[in-house]
Amino acid sequence: MKSCVKCGNEQLVGFIGEDGFHEALCQEHFNELIADEYSDIVPEHIPNELVMKDIDNIPHVFSVEFMILGHCTTLCAFEGSENGYSCKVLGKLDEDFKYLWNRLYYRLHEILFVKYIENDQWIEDRIVGYVAYNDETNRHDLIVDGKSYSWEEIGNHIGTYEGFQVKIEVIDPSDEVY
Ligand SMILES: [Zn+2]
Repeated sequence: MKSCVKCGNEQLVGFIGEDGFHEALCQEHFNELIADEYSDIVPEHIPNELVMKDIDNIPHVFSVEFMILGHCTTLCAFEGSENGYSCKVLGKLDEDFKYLWNRLYYRLHEILFVKYIENDQWIEDRIVGYVAYNDETNRHDLIVDGKSYSWEEIGNHIGTYEGFQVKIEVIDPSDEVY
């Protein structure tokens, strides 16, 4: 397995610069490398954790990751190490960090206040989620409302719509979907 050339961390950040240069780096060393080039973009303080409540007043703890890419910045929030809620926003290189942070905050708020499944029943005729790997089953699941559903579970529900049309669309994680 590849690891960071500076510290050996195996969680890597992929980056290909404009010149095609590629080096294996962890997030910390990646940001450090990029910070030399874009020192005016790196915010003084990046919170590494964010706690937000959902529609049922249940708190969720998110890890926060800020990254500077060649042409934009990204700010991501992941719920713990499990497949929970997750959110990603894009920023411009010359943008103040607080605007990016606010976008993440409001976007996460919106995500936490929409529910698609309750008591295993779909609330409306649609669900929105993301695809994530499940280490226990060695399969991919669909994460809806911050919870993991197997394709079999999704399929069982889809079965109740026999004869109906279904639209499956794959959307970039930074795009808004409702
Ligand atoms: Zn490293």
